[in-house]
Amino acid sequence: MMTGIWRWVQHDGARLYNVGVMRDGSLHNPNHYDEAIVREAIRQASERVHERRSEAAKRAATTKRQRREGRVYEVARRIMAHEGIGRQRHCFICGKSLTDAESIARGIGSDCWQDVLVAISARRPNAITTNQLTNKGASE
Ligand SMILES: [Zn+2]
Repeated sequence: MMTGIWRWVQHDGARLYNVGVMRDGSLHNPNHYDEAIVREAIRQASERVHERRSEAAKRAATTKRQRREGRVYEVARRIMAHEGIGRQRHCFICGKSLTDAESIARGIGSDCWQDVLVAISARRPNAITTNQLTNKGASE
């Protein structure tokens, strides 16, 4: 249950104005509505807010995952076009800072690189080795 004062909450199609449950559990109810009704209306309103928040969080997680997948495919495309990403201090895909020389040189961390390899081999089933990928411009 959310504490604090609501400007209004809905109850059976009517609005209860200026009500709330305080941190100590006491009711803020200056309009003297029925206490049980106020508590129930606030409980339901809190539930609706929590539902909306968790739906928003799920949407955000999906967006983040989709954006990351987009990055993986962008990198796969560049690698296959022999463009590469170039040196980066942070992973081009996830933004984590890169520490080892190999990752810095290719601009992608080792975890994300695995996903890039998968994306590449999905597009070009036969012929990809790390060697080919790192020798920029190598003939196919
Ligand atoms: Zn990464």
